Amino acid sequence: MTLAEARSLTFAHRRKVFLVSTPTIRGLSRIEREFEASDQRRYHVPCPHCGHVQWLKFERLRWDKGQPDTAEYHCEGCDAAIAEHHKTAMLAAGEWRATAESEDPGTVGYHLSALYSPVGWLGWTRIARAHEAARGSDEALRAFRNTVLGETWMETGEAPDWQRLADRREAWAPGTVPEKGLFLTAGADVQKDRIEVDVWAWGRGLESWLVDHIVIEGGPGDPDCWQTLTDLLVRTWAHERGQHLTIARFAIDSGFETSAVYAWARQVGFAQVAPVKGLEGFNRASPVTGPTYVDATIGGKRLRRGARLWSVATSTFKAETYRFLRQDRPTPEEITAGASFPPGTVHLPSWADAEWLKQLTAEQLVTVKSRRGFTKLEWQKLRERNEALDCRVYARAAAWIAGADRWSEARWADLEDQLGVAKANETDTGQGAAPRAQGRTAPRRRTMRSSYMG
Ligand SMILES: [Zn+2]
Repeated sequence: MTLAEARSLTFAHRRKVFLVSTPTIRGLSRIEREFEASDQRRYHVPCPHCGHVQWLKFERLRWDKGQPDTAEYHCEGCDAAIAEHHKTAMLAAGEWRATAESEDPGTVGYHLSALYSPVGWLGWTRIARAHEAARGSDEALRAFRNTVLGETWMETGEAPDWQRLADRREAWAPGTVPEKGLFLTAGADVQKDRIEVDVWAWGRGLESWLVDHIVIEGGPGDPDCWQTLTDLLVRTWAHERGQHLTIARFAIDSGFETSAVYAWARQVGFAQVAPVKGLEGFNRASPVTGPTYVDATIGGKRLRRGARLWSVATSTFKAETYRFLRQDRPTPEEITAGASFPPGTVHLPSWADAEWLKQLTAEQLVTVKSRRGFTKLEWQKLRERNEALDCRVYARAAAWIAGADRWSEARWADLEDQLGVAKANETDTGQGAAPRAQGRTAPRRRTMRSSYMG
């Protein structure tokens, strides 16, 4: 955007910069910020009953619950119901009107939602139906607000209640990987006196399971501590189908003891280990960037471009984690009937204790107003200790670095094949049975090498 604006300066006399977009998240949306700085024009239409001129708001679209076909718009002036068939005449009689004064004279902004769709396109009943369908899912509601209403989604960064998470814990063999977990990543948080490591398994749709929680006492000044960490790189965790998995990607926070982390990562190799650095703020093109080549000091010697470093937009992954944690789940009956968990579901084991759960929910996203009057989102700590959340964010970044956000269907299917996991859509046809049967008759121990992840 800045580049486009700079280029238009060449034609200073008649320059025009045109920005158009669907907004995303409140406080982060660029187009919303630009719109708020404009004269905020909205299309005003007259009520067919009382003539009151108004712009259309979703709140005034009403229908009987569960019956979107009864949707009608209610006039702001007389509250009478306006049927869809009035729309054509209303649109024809409408006009754009500014609803604010722009910060820079000459900046005009236009907002139009799907409520204005011409008859025969996206009608009010279809909008009502879409809203009913989205209920219960943050993800779907957010898409509805963004694409149908053209409004930002207010990210509820409220920390999930740790007790509620405790109630939802699931029992599976400690230290093992449930069937749908297809690869492992680890996130390590380096503290003064210890290193904490959480191992997460990831499946399709980034469904995840906490597999292990390891606290290495001693801290970065202690060589034994680093040796224990090195041992973790070759350690394996048993998968429910009999294979053994190593950690595909190991992300370690380099913020606290940068040179020790670089030195260790260089020693064990960057194929498996990714030193990461957390960055604030949401407005980033990608949640993870890198690697960048950074100088490292090893044994008192400075090595130019001796280490690799990935930058992680921690805010983005924290918001995602909390969104995933808040998601509705199928009931036990629905699960028995074959229902699957929604993408992103976070599975916590019965051994996850109160302290760990409190750490995972230790932060809150709050909206703060900046000096220029724009709102900004910021994560604030509710509790001093938040290692579980940090480790989760780094492990999530490791999954991103492994490429899981961009894998094709074939790649996931390949992972399932390697582990002998029956594919959800093939269980009925029997096609998925072959590798599974093989796994049973020949329970030979095979370790999935991390190099597979590239
Ligand atoms: Zn009216």
